Amino acid sequence: MHTIEEVARYAKKNLPYDYIALTEHSRSVRIANGMDEKQFLRQLQEIREVNEKLGENFIKQGAEVDIHTDGTMDLSDELLGQLDIVVASIHTAFNRDNTDRLIKACENPYVAIIGHPTGRLIGSREAYQVDMRRVIEAAKETGTALEINAQPNRMDLNDEWAALAREQGVKLVISTDMHQLSNFHYMKLGVLIARRAWCTADDILNTGKWKEVEEFAEKKRKGAKTTSRFHRCRSPIGQVTPFQTTTDG
Ligand SMILES: [Zn+2]
Repeated sequence: MHTIEEVARYAKKNLPYDYIALTEHSRSVRIANGMDEKQFLRQLQEIREVNEKLGENFIKQGAEVDIHTDGTMDLSDELLGQLDIVVASIHTAFNRDNTDRLIKACENPYVAIIGHPTGRLIGSREAYQVDMRRVIEAAKETGTALEINAQPNRMDLNDEWAALAREQGVKLVISTDMHQLSNFHYMKLGVLIARRAWCTADDILNTGKWKEVEEFAEKKRKGAKTTSRFHRCRSPIGQVTPFQTTTDG
């Protein structure tokens, strides 16, 4: 485990990023030391202090909040509303159809991103049962982004689902789901998945400035619906700025 300051300094030194977002697990993901609300508030304070030392607002505070089996969130809306960005994902009950659970998560106004949407772990666990077409439809209707998780054992969404999401005008986010500093470099793998899905920088939310990410999340919080976009011209993916987690389960 590294301190927040070590993570930030590593990123600033080695990667061309304008920002990183820390998205620790919420409490019910005990295997990954999930944090309760008090711990998130303490972390917020620590992030402020490190940003002050760095002299810029480099670290954003997020959470990877666990989605309960009934589709509700493992952290209160009040807490989620204080975070810069919220990723929601499933870490339990893999032996069931999780379509409605993910759709309900999309309907939460504070959830900006659905993390590792199919739940597969390459080599150890198949994707859970899920109708990704319906989840992509819900993401489109609610203005929720879907993650391309760049961990080599996840690669989730895969290229085919990412391509369908892109066709539907759903924004994607590439994240490294980082457990240790070297995992920062998994970003390249996520970019390759996005390219196989014919994505351009415009399709990936975190290729943009933080302001764009903020506006995306804010639009959903205000209940505004997004309209799908049709991209006529294609350009290669440029700089990608990541969302990061320091632990994962
Ligand atoms: Zn996770």
